[in-house]
Amino acid sequence: MIQEMTFTRRSEFLPYNRACLGPEEEQEVLDTLRSGWLTTGPKTRRFEAEMAEFTGAGHCLALNSCTAALHIAMVAAGIGEGDEILTPSMTFPSAINEMVHERITPVFVDVEPDTLNLDVSLVEERITPRTRAIMPVHFAGHPVEQDRLREIADRHGLLVIGDAAHATESTFRGRHVSRFEDMTAYSFYATKNLTTGEGGMLGIEDDQVAERARLLSLHGMSRDAWKRYSSEGYQHWDIVTPGYKYNLTDVASSLGLHQLRKLPGFLLERERQTARYDEAFADLGDVLRLLVRRPHVRSACHLYVIQVRTENLRATRDQVMHEIQAENVGIGIHFRGVHLHPFYRERFGFAPGMLPHTERASEQVISIPLYPGLKEEDQEYVIQVVRRVLLRHRR
Ligand SMILES: *Cc1c(COP(=O)(O)O)cnc(C)c1O
Repeated sequence: MIQEMTFTRRSEFLPYNRACLGPEEEQEVLDTLRSGWLTTGPKTRRFEAEMAEFTGAGHCLALNSCTAALHIAMVAAGIGEGDEILTPSMTFPSAINEMVHERITPVFVDVEPDTLNLDVSLVEERITPRTRAIMPVHFAGHPVEQDRLREIADRHGLLVIGDAAHATESTFRGRHVSRFEDMTAYSFYATKNLTTGEGGMLGIEDDQVAERARLLSLHGMSRDAWKRYSSEGYQHWDIVTPGYKYNLTDVASSLGLHQLRKLPGFLLERERQTARYDEAFADLGDVLRLLVRRPHVRSACHLYVIQVRTENLRATRDQVMHEIQAENVGIGIHFRGVHLHPFYRERFGFAPGMLPHTERASEQVISIPLYPGLKEEDQEYVIQVVRRVLLRHRR
């Protein structure tokens, strides 16, 4: 039994996440620096083409964050003031903040308690004449019930804009998650499964929307720098719409090209570690709720989220969190519901009680270390620490 093993506190901090970069990325960045072309150029175009092939998207547009991708998606689709978008509150607030900037109203839908994903059975009752889109978040990499969601969207003439920040490589019934969506936003932030430090991508199916999104991503200029300064000679550009400055650099894409190739191997490691945690915590059902993985999906296993069942513990989540960290193990919190944050309470009058599963999870989730390169003995240490802390407070 693990709890009977002798315990020695590690002296070195174990981070909850660590990017996995190798000599291939280093060499590619060096090649880019020596090429003299730093901003959006040939490597970004190649990264876009490879992401389009990987996901099956009609178009892929490289951007400097997932937040930018979600913003551009809404604007390119013509969603704006007074419109409503259905989305979970159990997420990172980036898309929701962008909705506020565009005067779009976020309409929150509660999550399933076992996956913490948007509960598709609650979507239809929240649709109004102002609803324009549904924005699922594939929590921790587990796809939302995509076929049912697509069917509801089609029946009501709504767009599906996916937040796939956790789900770059997730599949639903054997197809990439994006195959059920009109647009899909990916994050290449430092902690994500595929990282470029900062970066993002927007997959787009509609040709005209794709053209508009590309225009919006670089000031609304009729010609990008790669074309303006090419050997064909300088060409005038025009502003045809007031756009944004959201383009991805070739330095970042240098990382992305190799990270994308390594993604399938990374996923195998994530799946192995996830299975190991599932097995190690299987007997703690009274104090720990583990996320379920449905048989018809392949999750990107982006996070390993435990929910501490505070009803059976003499400790709060934050106490458990502090005690885990005190043993030199890094953790993350994904997430505290967006509707509970002060700005959202004040602006929209949101209050506890409106989304019971989201609110319970907000008080119980802790993400523990999971990433390719996490050593087996380090994972065993995490397991030992989590078990010790929970058993200490078990009622
Ligand atoms: C990380 C994250 C984002 C934001 O990604 P950026 O690339 O940092 O803008 C959006 N949504 C979710 C669910 C995320 O986890």
